[in-house]
Amino acid sequence: MTSSPHTSKLSFPSTQEPRCLEGKDETRTTVPRHSPSTHPDPRVRGDDNFDLKQRVLEILSHVPDPEIPCVSVVDLGIVREVHENTLYITPTYTGCPATLAIERDIRKSLDAAGFAEMTIETALSPPWTTDWISDEGREKLRAYGIAPPPRGAARYSLREDAAQCPRCGSMHTEEISRFGSTPCKALCRCLDCREPFDRFKCH
Ligand SMILES: [Zn+2]
Repeated sequence: MTSSPHTSKLSFPSTQEPRCLEGKDETRTTVPRHSPSTHPDPRVRGDDNFDLKQRVLEILSHVPDPEIPCVSVVDLGIVREVHENTLYITPTYTGCPATLAIERDIRKSLDAAGFAEMTIETALSPPWTTDWISDEGREKLRAYGIAPPPRGAARYSLREDAAQCPRCGSMHTEEISRFGSTPCKALCRCLDCREPFDRFKCH
């Protein structure tokens, strides 16, 4: 694995280095709980971190997801927090093959925008769920032909209701395969317009 000097190693539980398991390094995989930007109303005047966060979000809103390029890493909710010159990201699910590509693309965009000193940390807690996909992201998925997961669906991941056809809007659909073009999507078919489509699986 290659990484730039400013990019920390991804810290999946199974590949963590011993030093990452020490108590003082727990923050490496956890978004800081008391950072100014997690305040209930972060838009208080003089919150420099809020301005920094907005600039970073704007930059990263142009970084597409490598597997679903119609949505950005911000749309998907992968970008979690910016605090003290550290960007926290959470993979859509541990072991997602796109994770390394996502971190590399984010690094490249930050460098190009003058944020070469910003470090990237992977936060695994709390885990990402499909509820983190923004409303804008859901609309982009639908327009792209992928049925977005309904809000709150993460709680019902084991008993998904029928997906809504992204083309004709029909609920008269069936799942053909649990795995579509990528592991995070299922292949479905509309029984009205007869078109097959991908559904973003809930988790
Ligand atoms: Zn249809």
